[in-house]
Amino acid sequence: MEFEVIIVGGSYAGLQAGMTLGRALRNVLIIDSGKPCNAQTPHSHNFLTRDGETPAAITKVALEQLSTYNTVQLLHGKAVHGEKTASGFAITTEAGDTFTAKKLMITTGIKDLLPDIPGVAECWGISVIHCPYCHGYEVANQPTGILGNGDGGFETVKLIQHWTKDLTLFTNGPSTLTGEMMEQLTRRHIRVIETPLKAIIHDQGYLSAVELADDTKVPLKAVYARVPFIQHSDIAAQLGCEFTTSGHIKVTEFGKTTVEGIYAAGDNCSMLRGVANAVAAGLAAAAFVNREMIWEQFENE
Ligand SMILES: Cc1cc2nc3c(=O)[nH]c(=O)nc-3n(C[C@H](O)[C@H](O)[C@H](O)COP(=O)(O)OP(=O)(O)OC[C@H]3O[C@@H](n4cnc5c(N)ncnc54)[C@H](O)[C@@H]3O)c2cc1C
Repeated sequence: MEFEVIIVGGSYAGLQAGMTLGRALRNVLIIDSGKPCNAQTPHSHNFLTRDGETPAAITKVALEQLSTYNTVQLLHGKAVHGEKTASGFAITTEAGDTFTAKKLMITTGIKDLLPDIPGVAECWGISVIHCPYCHGYEVANQPTGILGNGDGGFETVKLIQHWTKDLTLFTNGPSTLTGEMMEQLTRRHIRVIETPLKAIIHDQGYLSAVELADDTKVPLKAVYARVPFIQHSDIAAQLGCEFTTSGHIKVTEFGKTTVEGIYAAGDNCSMLRGVANAVAAGLAAAAFVNREMIWEQFENE
């Protein structure tokens, strides 16, 4: 089936891009596998009009609103193969269906690689958190841990001490902090624990302590963890898009990738992680794609 634009990834960035393109009278297909990165968080914060709602509730409203546009089609499925064609792109899903379009937008997000410590996965987005703007207010001034080491760990401490002064940095093995960093932490009464973590003790994702390899338990209310990530989908790589050194898809200000006709928006191409950012990026990239298509059609008429 032929569309004007295929959007791979139908969460915040993709659904917003779909709405913008649908409202621009573009015939759009959104393919989504239903696994947004924040699915487990009980309260999504800091997105105006939806503060504190579950991710599922936000998506439900988005889907209801999108369903009123007959220009937009939604397909639940996973895009597994992307290829260039004479007139654009072909995307094949896991179910074996192939769809074609002139332009392609990739809004597939990223996958967090959680450390292999029992309890981290269960607490992710609940009390093991990645972002103070999303969850910091709820645990402000509480005893808080930071899982990190070296420059990254120190930078996280520097940021989070604005929300709470009661901080413990867990380096989970020998510290790689410099003497100058250690001096700064000691001066601010921030504890540094090098003993590896054994587990996060929690009740339904709400942690009460971090247990160390020597069986010591450190009572806490929350832990911030900076974790590595990979791209959630390899469609951009398959089609030859370039990546930044941080592992994001390389894009211009309006989401144009290094491959002509392919655009990206949201977490997969931005360090500014957040629902509002993903929505804004989806809108900007969609408006840019549409403008390019109008220009191309205008010149060829
Ligand atoms: C635990 C956690 C809690 C968070 N809490 C907050 C918060 O409170 N407030 C806030 O503003 N932000 C929060 N964030 C950040 C926010 O969730 C992300 O910035 C946002 O989800 C990014 O949107 P996105 O559309 O780029 O990607 P995602 O929301 O991750 O969605 C990507 C979509 O693409 C789909 N997909 C991937 N590959 C394929 C494929 N091959 N074929 C088809 N579909 C595919 C996925 O299934 C998914 O639906 C949180 C993030 C995490 C990890």
